[in-house]
Amino acid sequence: MLNNRFYNRRRFIQTAALFSSSLMTSLASARRTIAQDESVKAVVIGSGFGGAVAALRLGQAGIDTLVIERGRRWPITSAQNTFATYRKPDSRAAWLSPKTVIFDEIPIDVYTGILERKDENGISVYCGAGVGGGSLVYNGITYQPPRELFYKVFPRAIDYDELDRVYYPRVHSIIKPVPIPQDILATNYYSSTRIFLQQAAVAGLPNRLLDMAVDWDVVRQEINGTKVPSAIIGEVWYGMNSGAKKSLDRNYLTQAEQTGYVDILPLHIVTEISEVPGYGYRVACTQINESGEIIATKTITCRYLFLAAGSMGTSRLLVKAKATGTLPRLNDYIGLDWGTNGETVAIRSGFPQLTNTGQGGPATSVIQYFDNPLGSISIELLPIWNAPDGTLVSVGIGLPSVKGRFNYDSTTGLVKLNWPDGKNSGDPKLLKAAEFAYRLIDRKNATSISQPQTNITLGSSPRRKNRVTGQVSDIFPAFHPLGGAVLGKACDLYGRVIGYRGLYVVDGALMPGSTGCTNPSFTIAAIAERCMERILAEDIV
Ligand SMILES: Cc1cc2nc3c(=O)[nH]c(=O)nc-3n(C[C@H](O)[C@H](O)[C@H](O)COP(=O)(O)OP(=O)(O)OC[C@H]3O[C@@H](n4cnc5c(N)ncnc54)[C@H](O)[C@@H]3O)c2cc1C
Repeated sequence: MLNNRFYNRRRFIQTAALFSSSLMTSLASARRTIAQDESVKAVVIGSGFGGAVAALRLGQAGIDTLVIERGRRWPITSAQNTFATYRKPDSRAAWLSPKTVIFDEIPIDVYTGILERKDENGISVYCGAGVGGGSLVYNGITYQPPRELFYKVFPRAIDYDELDRVYYPRVHSIIKPVPIPQDILATNYYSSTRIFLQQAAVAGLPNRLLDMAVDWDVVRQEINGTKVPSAIIGEVWYGMNSGAKKSLDRNYLTQAEQTGYVDILPLHIVTEISEVPGYGYRVACTQINESGEIIATKTITCRYLFLAAGSMGTSRLLVKAKATGTLPRLNDYIGLDWGTNGETVAIRSGFPQLTNTGQGGPATSVIQYFDNPLGSISIELLPIWNAPDGTLVSVGIGLPSVKGRFNYDSTTGLVKLNWPDGKNSGDPKLLKAAEFAYRLIDRKNATSISQPQTNITLGSSPRRKNRVTGQVSDIFPAFHPLGGAVLGKACDLYGRVIGYRGLYVVDGALMPGSTGCTNPSFTIAAIAERCMERILAEDIV
């Protein structure tokens, strides 16, 4: 039996909101239970970039919306101890894993932690888990591709000028990313950034500071000792205890809940989606506790279903639905065109001066070697807390030429990502482009007393030796999974899933394996804004 408990509760919440925004906040956190069978007008699966944009725009349009998120909330506490740290990792560091999944593998209790590593066939992939999705673990790099690189990967039918004029600024106005201020850049914590930019200039390569989703005032407080050191000592991927990171739970999702129309349901994992003919969709999910044990199973019915479980989560749900016949009209592009966003990681050593490699996060600057004759590439400096001094660690983002695909295994009932055989050593074109760029930087910066050395690892390489720590593990799997339900193929150019009315993809699964030599979150969010505007205007009644 379905019920419409949401609707009445919403009336009450809207009235309360008129009186007090603090009352509103406490109501929002109290609205977390849901009966075994519910009906709601719109469901959004996942609360990362695509899900957060969808939730806010649906809420503003007055549409009852339930956001189902597998992970927990991660509120910044006054004790500044929300997250695990690299230096002292605990169960909060990893999603349902008995050991940490990045850097050294340290035994921990199984918990609904923040970072998941998915070990697929031939490749490993990192994903964030929690209310805010990948924004909880990200560096905050907010990077728009230039037109020519955008069109190397996206269809011409998507108007870049409109994105540039309307949708990127719309996202920017909510996340409010800004470059590192000069006074912070001048501190010792950020000496690696200064060396990086100087080397780029000596090599004659275009370089600049990046827009970062960071509250630099909080970083100033870290520097003056009134907040716990986080950004300045390179603590990033498990979350930043000082509160310097502007994750989505602190902008888009807060605003979505404040509309009074959006509920977020944490610790619920969607297991299956199916069609309700003549009405909409049914979403089956399991409620878990913070140790990952199932405490309830639920079914939610909706008229409009928005898939935003990230490239890995959305693709899995769709591939399973097609294979098991719960959404039989999905087309043959479902599960295809998956890519790593063309990442490489380089560790450069041999510098004569101290680099403070592990400090000065979360990231700050980019070299834009777009006219590299072997392939356009962006190179960004990253702090790696345990890298030896005298090194610089950077990530390169190029244009990938290798694609993966998702397949359903009927014997296990599982969907797995398959990375092509023989490509375990990565994408040869990417590697050549990265090598060319780093050799140029090394050569131009060589002095009589030092010759920089660069070792390059493909971001997609499974199980390689960490050249910094010497440990063999997956330290550099794919950080930017993209694709699986791509724009113009599995979906139309506005995220409508082909073959179904009222079913949408609004996340990284829409991206064609790359966002044009840039980190993907800004483009995912801008495309989601563009999809939502059209869907709200034309589809939702
Ligand atoms: C360590 C790290 C650093 C990064 N740094 C940057 C950066 O600086 N800049 C940048 O642009 N990008 C960065 N990225 C990439 C960026 O985080 C992702 O591209 C982005 O988050 C993808 O957005 P999305 O909406 O597709 O999905 P996500 O943000 O991944 O959100 C998907 C959400 O769905 C939830 N979910 C998944 N499956 C289910 C299910 N079955 N049921 C319920 N919920 C589910 C997940 O828990 C998650 O919250 C980084 C990624 C990593 C891992």
